Amino acid sequence: MDMSEASCIFCKIVSREITTEFVAETNNTLAFWDIAPHAKVHLLVIPKQHHRDVAELAENAPHILSEVLKTATDLAMEYTSGSFKLQFNTGAEAGQTVFHAHAHVLSDSAKDGS
Ligand code: AMP
Ligand code: ZN
Repeated sequence: MDMSEASCIFCKIVSREITTEFVAETNNTLAFWDIAPHAKVHLLVIPKQHHRDVAELAENAPHILSEVLKTATDLAMEYTSGSFKLQFNTGAEAGQTVFHAHAHVLSDSAKDGS
């Protein structure tokens, strides 16, 4: 484990060093609610393995990126009306603040109509 992983907040969520309520877990992914939501539904889906961003994940572990996308779309179908955004902020200038790849699932149209 290098320093970036040792200090990575999402690696700490994976290792349960930081406790968060998980909404889904698969072999290679975890999903949880964003702590500072930007929409009625705002979930994060992360690979359990540390990769700094989606480009590195696509390059080094495309099968895990595919699992992240499957978890994200499954949750979008579960929690939203079917209208949602899937977003990967990549690089500080694009708004990335946590340098462990993650998909944002965003929607203002929740499943229950609220
Ligand atoms: P980004 O700006 O794309 O890097 O997204 C990082 C996201 O992680 C932000 O939307 C934060 O609100 C969220 N976040 C940071 N720490 C936590 C945490 N402990 N639990 C849940 N979400 C978090
Ligand atoms: Zn990490």
